[in-house]
Amino acid sequence: SAPSLRIPPWLRVKLPCSHTYGDTRSLVDDLRLNTVCQSAKCPNMFECFSSGTATFLILGNVCTRNCAFCNITPGQAAPPDPDEPRRVAEGAARLGLSHVVVTSVTRDDLPDGGSAHFAATVRALRSALPAAANGQPATIEVLIPDFRGSRAALDTVLDAAPDIINHNVETPPAHYPRIRPQADYAQSLELLARVRAAGAIAKSGLMVGLGETDDEVRATLADLAATGCHIATIGQYMRPSRNHPPVERYVHPDVFESYAAHGHALGIPHVFSAPLVRSSYNARAAYDALQQL
Ligand code: SF4
Ligand code: SF4
Repeated sequence: SAPSLRIPPWLRVKLPCSHTYGDTRSLVDDLRLNTVCQSAKCPNMFECFSSGTATFLILGNVCTRNCAFCNITPGQAAPPDPDEPRRVAEGAARLGLSHVVVTSVTRDDLPDGGSAHFAATVRALRSALPAAANGQPATIEVLIPDFRGSRAALDTVLDAAPDIINHNVETPPAHYPRIRPQADYAQSLELLARVRAAGAIAKSGLMVGLGETDDEVRATLADLAATGCHIATIGQYMRPSRNHPPVERYVHPDVFESYAAHGHALGIPHVFSAPLVRSSYNARAAYDALQQL
């Protein structure tokens, strides 16, 4: 395998050991919840938790797919727990979150792909979070799988009216066979276009450092712009373990800025592009900024 590249200085973030972190962790454990923030050891955890954002992982922590970049264990998950939406809502309320992101593993084994469980979670959050500490209603973002292109599954989620619907394309299409083998780029773009057509806020994103070129990143931004997507995120891929594909390149912060400029020029209102950007990073800020447009 390729020799490991040195981690550049702009990616070195010290994981803080704060109170917020400890309190959040015990609450999440008590309620038998999974957060992506903790399981992915996300470098933004301190910033996100202290600004009232967290990402809950619903429908289990075992996935029916096996994307090369992902740290989630592949396998057969348990049936959805009907009490989970209530526990997510309770966790979000007790953490005083102002922006809640809900995502899931991909459940190709479930007839509805888990869409009803997503909808139930959004509704439970809506009633548990009438207003955050600042008096503004909390915003709810769902980061959904492709539901294998099922229009009915997407409609189930749309009916619950989350504030933002996010679906990541993850990488340019040429890299799907290697990086996202069970997914379909065109199907993902179609999902985003449907979200837009339904009048909801659409968001997507990708990682760089998985072998793509800058031209491919720009072409992907053009495809996202064509769907009418409102928010795009681009961040540096970080290898979760030695068993994952190596980082092919560390993209310089200036190049990330050039991607953002390109995305804006294509008409995407908000492009968050920087080494540490993750799909859910700064998500509330993106939502607030959209309201000003
Ligand atoms: Fe959690 Fe996302 Fe923030 Fe990371 S960027 S800490 S996963 S909310
Ligand atoms: Fe990970 Fe999502 Fe791929 Fe499953 S579908 S392996 S959770 S990225």
